[in-house]
Amino acid sequence: MTSTLFDQFGPETAIRLIASATVFAAIAVAEGARPRRKRSFSRRARWPANLAIAAINDIAVRILVPITAIAAALAAERRASGLLNRIPLPGAIGLVIAVIILDLAIYLQHRVFHAVPLLWRIHRMHHADLDFDLTTGLRFHPLEIVISMLVKIGVVLAIGASAMAVVAFEVLLNATSIFNHGNVGISEATDRWLRWILVTPDMHRVHHSIVRAETNSNFGFNLPWWDHLMRTYRAQPAAGHLAMTIGIDQFRSSEELKLMPLLSQPFRGAAGGYPTWTKLPG
Ligand SMILES: [Zn+2]
Ligand SMILES: [Zn+2]
Repeated sequence: MTSTLFDQFGPETAIRLIASATVFAAIAVAEGARPRRKRSFSRRARWPANLAIAAINDIAVRILVPITAIAAALAAERRASGLLNRIPLPGAIGLVIAVIILDLAIYLQHRVFHAVPLLWRIHRMHHADLDFDLTTGLRFHPLEIVISMLVKIGVVLAIGASAMAVVAFEVLLNATSIFNHGNVGISEATDRWLRWILVTPDMHRVHHSIVRAETNSNFGFNLPWWDHLMRTYRAQPAAGHLAMTIGIDQFRSSEELKLMPLLSQPFRGAAGGYPTWTKLPG
């Protein structure tokens, strides 16, 4: 299987898929052994569509985005363009800086997806999941994934991120997205120290609250620092993790958990009261 993946899509796809499958399996087992919340819907009601979306996204990016982020990184390296390709830095330091900048870019992009009503329509499908578990971490609309990839390629070209940094970031983002959506009970003490370096499930669950002020907080996926720096951090949901309502105030029927409704959600209904654009000061 691995060699086929290598032949078809290149090593980065195989690395990402293997890492993703490993983290998925580990969190799925942990969810079964130590669930944080009781499910509102069975896995069977949500998982087929959430997993199908993940597969569709992989294909959509490949068809709709002409180059990969890795190819962009290699092109920037050949031309010695982009900030990091012009500054002589040891490889490991350049890699860490690139990963941190890419993470900041994804945080900012997430803020913009919550701010602009048109983009919120695309992103809200992620928020409309009525339970919060590891498959929510894969449930993004294909349009969001394509836009996000174009942004990532732009950032890679601008900063001159190495191909290795791009692979590391992709693997990290995928793994942390599965981890921080996990319905896994982590002790309060562990959560407290872990969320200084990583966005934990309890930290990200606040972002999936139906309460608008809570939805518009904790935007980070990997590093929790951006939320602290930009004052979007909220430690816990007001109703508590067990009593809080997951989702948004639209798309709350079980029919909405199926694949076709997920794909059509951006084009249905009003933008709703969540976008923050109109609430910015000044
Ligand atoms: Zn969001
Ligand atoms: Zn999320």
